[in-house]
Amino acid sequence: MTSKSMKNLLDPWSTKTLQELRTLYVHLRSHNVTMDEFCDYVRGMSARDAAARAELARKRAIMEAAARTCPECSYPMYPHPVNTGPADNVGGGFRAQWFCVNCGNSFFTRRAVSDILEEAEGLLKQSDGGRSDDSAPCEGGDA
Ligand SMILES: [Zn+2]
Repeated sequence: MTSKSMKNLLDPWSTKTLQELRTLYVHLRSHNVTMDEFCDYVRGMSARDAAARAELARKRAIMEAAARTCPECSYPMYPHPVNTGPADNVGGGFRAQWFCVNCGNSFFTRRAVSDILEEAEGLLKQSDGGRSDDSAPCEGGDA
């Protein structure tokens, strides 16, 4: 290919873009990645991003379905694991703490966060908009 025909071929791209492409190409080649492998990867990027966003949205929906209403201020309360190690040791056989994101109100439960979220996911799948039946204000008192 002549220099003139190369210039015509690459004319739509800026010098900066072409320099970045050259850097990328050299990088890929140094790792034995072919242009076909690179193109396949880029082709799958949006699908992978969409899948990751959908998974994040699903986890948020489960957390919102699991949330309880704070009896003090009516903001959402979310469960956090406790007694997993020395840093969050509260004793009492508790496995989770409900915590209000607004006023800091909290109480403990012997239910595991994983169980709470599983139940919330089940409620979501029923799509009835129902809330957890774990409505007792406190198991074992505030701490
Ligand atoms: Zn509150």
